Amino acid sequence: MPPHDHDHDHAHDHGHTHPDLTRNQTLVMTTLVEAGGPLSAYSILDRLRGEGMRAPLQVYRALDKLVDFGLVHRLESLNAFVACRNPDCEAHETVAFAICERCGAVTEISDDGLAERLRDIAGAAGFALTKSTVELRGLCRTCGTA
Ligand SMILES: [Zn+2]
Ligand SMILES: [Zn+2]
Repeated sequence: MPPHDHDHDHAHDHGHTHPDLTRNQTLVMTTLVEAGGPLSAYSILDRLRGEGMRAPLQVYRALDKLVDFGLVHRLESLNAFVACRNPDCEAHETVAFAICERCGAVTEISDDGLAERLRDIAGAAGFALTKSTVELRGLCRTCGTA
């Protein structure tokens, strides 16, 4: 692990505030928290133009770091990013999201059993799992009963 990193210092800091965030990282983080749902890198950029962010690369760099810190998750199937809602999932080794196909609501689900199971399945295939994001698609409670 590179010596510059802050992970170890604040590993127990679960308030999802990271004292060592750069200005750009803080802007991106705040945008995601305020959005309350997933945003693409480009809509983040759009919201931050007034703050002096111009290049997609600035946003991508900030997002990369925030994902590393475990403050933000990447949702591949939506090509979007979402602020972590779960103060307990510090490792973020395995995280699951339920994505409603009707209203777009995204719920973060954390389940130790799931993490363990995936590690076992991967292990049985001779594969060492380091990280996984499970994206579940379907209908949320509201849409399912409508
Ligand atoms: Zn999380
Ligand atoms: Zn829904």
